[in-house]
Amino acid sequence: MSVAIDCEKLDIGYRNADTDITVVSGLDLTVTAGEFLTILGPSGCGKSTLLRVVADLLEPLSGSIAVLGTSPRQARMTRQIGFVFQDSTLLPWRSVRQNIELPAVVGGANKRVVSTEKTDALLVMLGLEGLGDRFPSQLSGGQRQRVAIARALIEEPKLLLMDEPFGALDEITRDRLNSELLSIWRRTGTTILFVTHSIMEAVYLGERVMVMASNPGRVLSITDLRDAKNADNSCSREDPKIISAMAEMRVALEAAS
Ligand code: ADP
Ligand code: MG
Repeated sequence: MSVAIDCEKLDIGYRNADTDITVVSGLDLTVTAGEFLTILGPSGCGKSTLLRVVADLLEPLSGSIAVLGTSPRQARMTRQIGFVFQDSTLLPWRSVRQNIELPAVVGGANKRVVSTEKTDALLVMLGLEGLGDRFPSQLSGGQRQRVAIARALIEEPKLLLMDEPFGALDEITRDRLNSELLSIWRRTGTTILFVTHSIMEAVYLGERVMVMASNPGRVLSITDLRDAKNADNSCSREDPKIISAMAEMRVALEAAS
């Protein structure tokens, strides 16, 4: 069983000129390759900071972190990490197709070669058929997030980091994207770390749900849902086991805030 992320005694935060601001300290976390881990926690507890460290957008203060068996730097340089943010910025002057292909265009020496077929396949996978020549301003919010996901997938990352990607969408669109994301995850086998404020979303998507607390930022609990779900990580939102898992998360989150 290979390991996608391994953190030991990891302290993360921000380095100022004179003092370090520690956001999360002593984080121990192991994520198996191919796992879907969702992360819940009050605002400011360090969820985005954690993803930034995994993605090598921020250096840890101390402790150790390995990503895909190497350093975050190496994993980023070899373009094995995809990132989707809540308000992912598409370039307004580029078409949908050109936005999706952007990482490959700016990729430098390690970039993957992108074929038209690959972009076409992603357009289909994300329900964007026929929209490839549109510009971002001609899309709905849900469609824009689909483009952001396609852009994150174009290089076939082994690890996909998603920071509240559907937080700004209406509930119906969000539910639809959730089930599409699960099917993409099943098809690609990519490891996913997914931050959300929604307990329902965390439980619906995650094989495990990590709840973080603030002041100080830390891991409060990690709940394994695999026994409560079907073998393919699908579940019914009405299943009593799922409802009780959600109640458990709610209690943990209330303790965390
Ligand atoms: P979350 O994503 O869980 O809401 P963040 O990871 O964004 O929380 O932020 C965690 C803490 O780090 C917050 O207290 C925030 O104010 C602080 N923080 C975020 N960015 C910076 C920064 N660039 N410099 C200093 N502190 C920061
Ligand atoms: Mg955040």
